[in-house]
Amino acid sequence: MIRGIAFVLVLLWSGLAQAFDYGLKAVEVAPETYVVIGAMEHFSRQNGGNIVNTGFIVTAAGVVVIDTGPSLLYGRQLRALIGGITDAPVVLAVNTHAHPDHYLGNGAFDGVPIAALAGTRQAIAEAPPALLDGIYRLVGDAMAGTQSVPPGETLAPGLREVGGHRLEFLALGGHTGADLAVFDRSTGVLFAGDLAFLDRTPTTPQADLDHWLAALETLRALKPALVVPGHGPPAPPPAAFDQTADYLRWLRRVLAEAAAQGLDAAEVMALPLPPAVAALAVAPAEFARSVIHLYPAFERAMLSAK
Ligand SMILES: [Zn+2]
Repeated sequence: MIRGIAFVLVLLWSGLAQAFDYGLKAVEVAPETYVVIGAMEHFSRQNGGNIVNTGFIVTAAGVVVIDTGPSLLYGRQLRALIGGITDAPVVLAVNTHAHPDHYLGNGAFDGVPIAALAGTRQAIAEAPPALLDGIYRLVGDAMAGTQSVPPGETLAPGLREVGGHRLEFLALGGHTGADLAVFDRSTGVLFAGDLAFLDRTPTTPQADLDHWLAALETLRALKPALVVPGHGPPAPPPAAFDQTADYLRWLRRVLAEAAAQGLDAAEVMALPLPPAVAALAVAPAEFARSVIHLYPAFERAMLSAK
């Protein structure tokens, strides 16, 4: 009897694991151009790790996918979503950078060339297995079957014509060591990856703030018609550029001032957030993480200046 119950429980569990439904919806933001918008939250069991924007462009030569999402299941459901919109095959998937919510869906794109900047390929190949374990713990069943599948091709920056779309691939950095932005010169849509956030606090585990601020100016100079941030709603510029840059400059100033005053990390985390920062999704937790990521370098700089 007990064995029977256990068997039923296992069946239920595996049924649930297969049934996680992301409920993905494609928003057409420009002709042949779609964005799948994620929650402005941290990884959780409820969101299955879907905290990220992905996108795709349906060109005459096939579909170009920009980021594959946080899990194998997400990648499969993204592929099914694309299949419901077009019969055209996916001919290219790119990963904007080496953060797991942007590439862990790669496993669903079997047989499709997956490309990324050289630095991104290397960072994904070298990502520690503990990273995947950590996400499994936070997200649970939705991660079933997910493996880290590194991109097989190096993406050369520059302009490339794909099925009537003039796609410019920009090799930038600052959010991580290698950040790709994809600017469709035919529609004016800029897929900014995590170089731009909107209404959601930027994440900084590998950030170089000065480099990131310079990258934002490069993106601004493209004069896109619409910016698709890595997290948050697509919107015309300059909202995402301004908000991201304002946050990074505020962070840089607060950390430098705190180091000058000799505050310890716990004291910095307890500092009040200005209203513009507090209004961003997940601000207190993300600010605390940024203190952990970035404050030691500010303290070292202060010590060596003395
Ligand atoms: Zn990221």
